[in-house]
Amino acid sequence: MTEQAVVIAGGGPTGLMLAGELALAGIDVVIVERRASQDLDGSRAGGLHSRTIEVLDQRGIAERFLEAGKVGPALGFAGTALDINDFPTRHNYVLALWQSLFEPILADWVGELGVPIHRGREVVGFTQDDTGVNVELSDDTSLQAEYLVGCDGGRSLVRKAAGIDFPGLDPSTSWLIAEVEMAEEPKIGTRPEGGGIGPVNRVEGGGPFGVVLKEQHVDHTGDPSMDELRDALIVAYGTDYGVHSPTRLSRFNDMSRQAASYRHGRVLLAGDAAHVHPPQGGQGLNTGVQDAVNLGWKLAQVANKTSPDSLLDTYHAERHPVGARVLHNTMAQVALSTPDDRHQALRDTMAELLGMDEPRKRIAGMISGLDIHYDLGAGHPLLGRRMPDLDLQTADGPTRVFTLLHDARPVLLNLGEPGGFDTSPWANRVRVVDARHDGVWELPVLGEIAAPPAVVIRPDGHVAWAGDLTDPKLSQALATWFGAATPA
Ligand SMILES: Cc1cc2nc3c(=O)[nH]c(=O)nc-3n(C[C@H](O)[C@H](O)[C@H](O)COP(=O)(O)OP(=O)(O)OC[C@H]3O[C@@H](n4cnc5c(N)ncnc54)[C@H](O)[C@@H]3O)c2cc1C
Repeated sequence: MTEQAVVIAGGGPTGLMLAGELALAGIDVVIVERRASQDLDGSRAGGLHSRTIEVLDQRGIAERFLEAGKVGPALGFAGTALDINDFPTRHNYVLALWQSLFEPILADWVGELGVPIHRGREVVGFTQDDTGVNVELSDDTSLQAEYLVGCDGGRSLVRKAAGIDFPGLDPSTSWLIAEVEMAEEPKIGTRPEGGGIGPVNRVEGGGPFGVVLKEQHVDHTGDPSMDELRDALIVAYGTDYGVHSPTRLSRFNDMSRQAASYRHGRVLLAGDAAHVHPPQGGQGLNTGVQDAVNLGWKLAQVANKTSPDSLLDTYHAERHPVGARVLHNTMAQVALSTPDDRHQALRDTMAELLGMDEPRKRIAGMISGLDIHYDLGAGHPLLGRRMPDLDLQTADGPTRVFTLLHDARPVLLNLGEPGGFDTSPWANRVRVVDARHDGVWELPVLGEIAAPPAVVIRPDGHVAWAGDLTDPKLSQALATWFGAATPA
């Protein structure tokens, strides 16, 4: 039996991101992944939203993904394009990047950080007590860990074995989605029941074609086959158009479920294991990666004993409402997509509203993840929100806020006179940076805000405190988030 601090079940986007976060904090972590390699069947998620690109930027790895993807200016809500190039972020766009390309890049980073991935093995069960978790694997071995995190997808074994409820809505409809060549010219256009066929290259037309087709049945296990796509084409069009050479073939449905609790003792859930919802708005992978960034530093501090175990409860408190909001907006998008004249009128009305600045910013702020606000109580508007990536002048030269977060450690950013607060009780835990920022402070959706004299930035980029260094709440905030003060 091998021992480590954290075992992660599942090496998809969420598990990989979490492993990277833990490794940066020096935590002994392993991933157990069912797949023999990082290759994916089907294409799955199609891109990254602004906040996900920002969290990758906070770790200094955004460029790797930007080089592999294609930037587009707008995101979508139920078919209405929402332009975000006026949002105050360096990443005011959507990055089109298939999950099958995203995962290997992330896995390379995790590999550079030295995280072992036990591939071709599954977590098949576990037992936990006050001292740790015994994680049973499919090859009859086991791993002893302090914590187990289920990043094992929507059918999560970890969630089921932990007895965590997964309430929500069953699927009402299943859809095939494919990119294929066709020997005959297909009928281009949308179908009365939704979906349809269109050229991938809308300007030049011709093949390859994008196909979205409603399936006859809702219940399926596993990935679809070309025979199933042929059958669905015949049901819809009376012919399969000689379909061949798929570059993408998968299915999705409109199931919406969320784990009642993201934590049961020493077992936590993140990503699809904690929430599943329809793909409208492309938020699944993004939400999982951001779960991992919220959980990573907290779990690291608890595992290395700088913070009490209760810090882990803030993970559920902060991320469950975010997941619930994603479920809510995808349900609204599904309802809006209903293919009849009355819903078309509703879509038209919604599109008209979203053409106005304020509603566009509200909804785009939500889908992009830039408006996420953890409830840390009353105070400065920055409290609980993401710290903007300001350009800074320091004694060591120019830098920017996200660069200060590359090593995933908390930062006390002092924009006033240097000194004025004794951080020695948090030495080696909180980094103090004296800096100057010339320019306005602007948040997505909220707009311009008053510049605070100093801010405490958590490793996930959210602001834990903002104010004057004489504020007694500063010491409280440092103790709450980064552990009790220790004598110098
Ligand atoms: C068919 C399909 C189509 C999708 N299409 C879209 C889309 O168009 N747009 C969009 O935004 N999102 C889409 N999604 C959702 C998106 O893929 C997920 O939100 C994202 O992959 C979540 O990442 P994750 O790491 O949490 O879970 P997953 O990506 O599911 O990763 C879980 C990992 O755990 C492994 N695993 C499972 N059980 C075990 C076990 N017991 N032991 C060890 N390893 C285990 C799996 O092999 C997998 O690698 C789709 C999902 C599916 C399934």
